[in-house]
Amino acid sequence: MSKGDEKFNLLLEASDDLIFILDNKGCFRQVNSNGAALLDYSPKDLFGRHFWEFVDPKSDAVIAQSFHEILNSGELTTFEVTMTSKFGREVIFQMTAKALKEKNKITGLLAVGKDITKIRYEAERAKDLSVKLVEAKRLISIERNRANQRSTILEELARLKNEFVSNISHEMRTPLASIIGFSETLVSDPEMPRDMQLEFNNIILKESKRLANLINNVLDLNKIEGGEIQLNRSNFNIVKILNEVIERNKPLIKEKGLTLVCDIPVEEIFINGDEEKLSQVFEGLISNAIKFTDTGGRIAISAQSLYKEFEIIISDTGVGIPEKDLPNIFQKFYRVSRPGTEIPGTGLGLVFVKQIVDLHKGLITVNSDINMGTSFVIKLPKGIKLVTK
Ligand code: ATP
Ligand code: MG
Repeated sequence: MSKGDEKFNLLLEASDDLIFILDNKGCFRQVNSNGAALLDYSPKDLFGRHFWEFVDPKSDAVIAQSFHEILNSGELTTFEVTMTSKFGREVIFQMTAKALKEKNKITGLLAVGKDITKIRYEAERAKDLSVKLVEAKRLISIERNRANQRSTILEELARLKNEFVSNISHEMRTPLASIIGFSETLVSDPEMPRDMQLEFNNIILKESKRLANLINNVLDLNKIEGGEIQLNRSNFNIVKILNEVIERNKPLIKEKGLTLVCDIPVEEIFINGDEEKLSQVFEGLISNAIKFTDTGGRIAISAQSLYKEFEIIISDTGVGIPEKDLPNIFQKFYRVSRPGTEIPGTGLGLVFVKQIVDLHKGLITVNSDINMGTSFVIKLPKGIKLVTK
């Protein structure tokens, strides 16, 4: 071995890469120790064995293609190959190889393989991590959207509540102002004619009732929110209750210039339920019908006894409810916005109505056409008729 060869061999042995020569059949003819150690072998173990024996099957195609290129082009060719060590470990090499030729005949192949296993695994891990990161980001964004949605609902509720407070303060101030105003006038003028005194008293009474009604609404809301509403049940004649509410509202209907058409059965129909609360249900629906119908309009109230239910329909020829608002009218504080012709209210009446109907295991539905009118249909399960002497 010449001095040059010796030095070259020293250099080969010092290298951490896999450096080898294959003969023209593809078998190892020379390989450096550190290189063989990368595959847990000694150079002696590899000598004479075919290169392909150590190639992981998943690299077979690459090797076939790369060897073809090396032999045909005669150029330095770079490719990546996964090999299997003596103990079954996967070792990934980045190979740079060139064909060895003697007098135009290929005698073998010289190659240098750099162990890039770690780099590849790190890259794989990084890819894995980046997939996980994308996933985490997606989860975070879904969570964030959910949180946003939650806060939008809460904001909407807070907005409705604020609106309600300002509405109710406004609504309370008006009757209070007339109560105070008219009572002051009554007190300050003892000589006021009798009929005028009566008229003022009536106004005070009416406004006080309005105020009491509003306060009741707020109290009911607290009960609704606290899930506290309880039915005070008894068997009672629902037809009588309905007629009473209608009678109570007749003056208001007349005052507003509305016609009332009633079709109520004459016989008694018994319901097992809360008499007072069901009376408030009818009151709420009839007062809405009056409130949302202009002078000249008509209110129709009909009732009939069905097989197992008592059905009440309260219809009006009023302003109607836009289709988009229909699903919301039973929600707390919800009032249809009618710019220019805002009709006062707190948006609680129907919440209470529905709650009470639900507690009676009844059903309430609504049909409405804008500017044509609205119909509310209530179905309540019938009770047992009490045997009375
Ligand atoms: P409150 O009854 O608490 O004084 P309100 O009448 O505005 O206030 P609800 O009775 O709960 O509230 O009704 C909710 C909304 O549904 C009303 O603001 C109104 O826009 C609409 N609405 C209810 N009944 C009718 C009806 N008969 N015709 C037209 N719109 C109606
Ligand atoms: Mg109402």
